[in-house]
Amino acid sequence: TAQQDEQFDVIVLGGGPGGSSVASFVAMQGHSVLLLEKEKFPRHQIGESLLPATTYGICGLLGIRDRIERAGFTRKQGGTFRWGKSPEPWTFRFAENPRVPGGYAFQVERSVFDKMLLDAAREKGVDVREEHAVVRVEQEDGRFSRVRFRDDRGSERTATAKYIVDSEGHRGQTYALVGERVFSQFFQNVALYGYFLDGKRLPAPSSGNILCAAFRDGWFWYIPLSDRLTSVGAVVSREAAQRIQDGPEQAFQSFVDSCPIIAEYLASATRVTEGVYGEFRVRKDYSYCNTRFWKPGLVLIGDAACFIDPVFSSGVHLATYSALLAARSINSCLAGDIDEEEAFEEFEFRYRREFGNFYQFLLSFYDMHQEADSYFWKARKVLNTDEKANDAFIRLVAGASSVDEPAFNHAEDFFRSRQGMGQWLEGMLSNQLAMQVDGLPGQSAPATLEGGPDAEQFMEGFTAEVRQIQTQAMFGHRRARESSVRPQGLIPSTDGFAWQRG
Ligand code: FAD
Repeated sequence: TAQQDEQFDVIVLGGGPGGSSVASFVAMQGHSVLLLEKEKFPRHQIGESLLPATTYGICGLLGIRDRIERAGFTRKQGGTFRWGKSPEPWTFRFAENPRVPGGYAFQVERSVFDKMLLDAAREKGVDVREEHAVVRVEQEDGRFSRVRFRDDRGSERTATAKYIVDSEGHRGQTYALVGERVFSQFFQNVALYGYFLDGKRLPAPSSGNILCAAFRDGWFWYIPLSDRLTSVGAVVSREAAQRIQDGPEQAFQSFVDSCPIIAEYLASATRVTEGVYGEFRVRKDYSYCNTRFWKPGLVLIGDAACFIDPVFSSGVHLATYSALLAARSINSCLAGDIDEEEAFEEFEFRYRREFGNFYQFLLSFYDMHQEADSYFWKARKVLNTDEKANDAFIRLVAGASSVDEPAFNHAEDFFRSRQGMGQWLEGMLSNQLAMQVDGLPGQSAPATLEGGPDAEQFMEGFTAEVRQIQTQAMFGHRRARESSVRPQGLIPSTDGFAWQRG
């Protein structure tokens, strides 16, 4: 009954990177926060390769960057790809000089990293309750305000709040109260992954990089988690994934056998067969986006809201970045400074735009790889994709991108203007326009897409928000006032944890 409700300013559902971050950013403004997490940490999670925006920007804002630096995680200066025309792997680095702020990120065991973020939330005063599972979110008078949950003794209880944040990840249920989850037809892959000891390392200074290698049936990730431990996953089509039914070990080996560089790197490695890393795991990694990200009283962040293909390690960044955006909206509303609709529309616009930028980047990234006679790669050419008929999804991701106004009536128009995107990206990479790339042969001029963005503008859209988080982490109050990202839009407050008028 209502009398037994515990009351909070904010309740956060799920304690992954998204949930812990938003809980901290709200508690740091003095608000009361309850965080419910169904597992007992440390718990396993996939998504081990991070971007500087998270490890430098977000962890800086949380005040735990020194801890992250000292935790012994592998330093990642960038990514190495056997991908595209070049038969040799090529490397991009986050910064020419890895010692500059934000010039590197980390590869993390998520069990360790996620616990560090959850502990930080506790230290900020968040009431963190592990082994507490959300059962249902309920509304009253058209506003979501009550959470029904099962505590660590199995009793059902309730709590109410002014704002509820759904950060339950991809397997939660709550997102459906806010909108519909619409799937991409383009990025419909299945991942099969395991852990290995004593695999080969890339030569220094790239030895901490993620290695991504395309092969006939898809692509591999190879993530060095420590000197000895490597996370290795094959991302393949649904059709190829059917082989897993005959045994994951055999299926994995067949993928390794058709990818020479991974076969070479694993030649003298042994698979971990005990403990938390001792099994092969399968994850469908279909990309999706919710039709809405918030309703009065309830807001979706991280994988609860949207997910995009993992080849560019964007998942934890999108989760923690959306956490910061949602916290700004919540903090502004709790302080009574900004109208709720306005504050949450700003959150949704910026989050959707960041997701859209990754979507467009990844389309061209897939489009750039050629492999004759490969079912997987043929189906992932912009020219051939079934996504052309997927108006619902394209409307959700393409219209909000910073550089692409929705000048198309149907998804088909959108893709027509993007034919040749892979070639264009390959041209950009070889011109070292926005990223530092080694080892790519040729110096052809960057292609400009017919009616599409030019390369520099495209990369600007892709990196602007990332840079913004890092600037906030580095300069805080002292940073320059930002301009809004749309007409009449809001801008971050001077401390960066709320919104103000532009
Ligand atoms: P999660 O990390 O999933 O956390 C959600 C939490 O909510 C969990 O702890 C869960 O126990 C809890 N929860 C769920 N339901 C309930 C409930 N009912 N009650 C209470 N608690 C609940 N990202 C990267 O950045 N780099 C990578 O290299 C990368 N590789 C990937 C590879 C694959 C194959 C896939 C599929 C994803 C990859 N990702 C990667 C994405 C990354 O895993 C996610 O984007 C990220 O974990 C999302 O964080 P989150 O906080 O939204 O959700």
